Amino acid sequence: MTAVIISGKEIADKKRQEIAEEVKSLKENGIVPGLAVVLVGDNHASRTYVKNKEKACKELGMYSVLIELPEETSEGELLDKIHELNNDKQIHGILVQLPIPKHIDETKVIESISPDKDVDGFHPINIGRMMTGQNAFLPCTPFGIMVMLEEAGISVAGKDVVVVGRSNIVGKPVGQLLLNQHATVTYCHSKTKDLKFHTRQADILVAAVGIANFITADHIKEGAVVIDVGINRNEAGKLCGDVAFDEVSEVAGYITPVPKGVGPMTITMLMYNTLKSARESAERS
Ligand code: NDP
Repeated sequence: MTAVIISGKEIADKKRQEIAEEVKSLKENGIVPGLAVVLVGDNHASRTYVKNKEKACKELGMYSVLIELPEETSEGELLDKIHELNNDKQIHGILVQLPIPKHIDETKVIESISPDKDVDGFHPINIGRMMTGQNAFLPCTPFGIMVMLEEAGISVAGKDVVVVGRSNIVGKPVGQLLLNQHATVTYCHSKTKDLKFHTRQADILVAAVGIANFITADHIKEGAVVIDVGINRNEAGKLCGDVAFDEVSEVAGYITPVPKGVGPMTITMLMYNTLKSARESAERS
C-alpha cells in the first residue's frame, strides 16, 4: 500500500484564504483583528516562530505587534505587560512565546492572560471548556490536526485512536478533541509497557514524541491514518518528523508529511483563533 499524503500546506492555504476573506469583511465594519506576541529573551527558534506568526498576520490583513523583552525581565514586569494587553482594545489575541526564562513561573503567566484573548488555548479555563465540549479557544496544533482530518474526509467517530505523547500542548488536547468526536482514545508515553501492542491497533495514530523517525512500519496497522506532529532534525541535519515516512507510507492508508504537514496548520489555527476572538469581542460590545 502507498499512503495518500495529507498535505497540511494545501489545507492551510485554503483555510488562510477563508480567514483573509473574513478579516476583510470584519474590516469593512471597522474591526481589525489584532494579535500581540510577547517574546522574552533571545531563543533562536522562538524568534523564527514569532517572525512566522507576524508574517502570517500581515498576509491575512491582521494587525500584529511584537513585544520583545530582555532575558532579565522580571515576572512582575511580564505580568504587568500582559495586564496592559488584556485591556488593549486593539488586541484580540495574546500569545507569550514559550519557553520563557526559568526565573518566571510559566503557569502564572498563562493564567494571567484573559481567557477571552487566549488564542493559544493554554489557559485552564479554555482547557476546561474544551474538555466539556463548550465554546473555547482550542490549542492550535491539536485544532489543526482535527481540521486536517476533516478536510481529508476521515471520520473519527468509533475509530480506535492512539496518541503517542501526552504533553499539555499537543498529546493530551488532541486526544481530548478526538474523544469529543467519539473516537476511542488510548494515550501512550515513555512509561508505556508495550508501545507496538497499542499502536498496531490504531485506526488513527498521532505521533507527538519529539524523536526523529521513532515510529516505524512495524508500529502501524495496514491502512491506518498516521498524523506526524514531530519536528526534528535527523543525523544529516534535515528536518523530519517522528514517523519514518518512507517505510510507514508503504503500510499506512494516509500520512502527513514533515515538513508541510501539521506545521503549517498550527499558525493557521492561531490566525483563526485571533479572528474568532475579534468576532466574539465585537459581538460582546
Ligand atoms: P514533549 O517533549 O512535551 O512530549 C513528548 C511526549 O513524548 C511525552 O509525553 C513523552 O512521554 C513521550 N515520549 C518520549 N519518549 C517516548 C518513548 N520512548 N515512547 C513513548 N512516548 C515517549 O513534546 P511536545 O508534545 O511539545 O512535542 C512533540 C513533538 O511535536 C516535538 O517534535 C515538537 O517539536 C513537535 N511539535 C510540533 C508542532 C507543530 O506545529 N507541528 C507544535 C508543537 C510541537 P512522558 O510524558 O512519559 O515523558
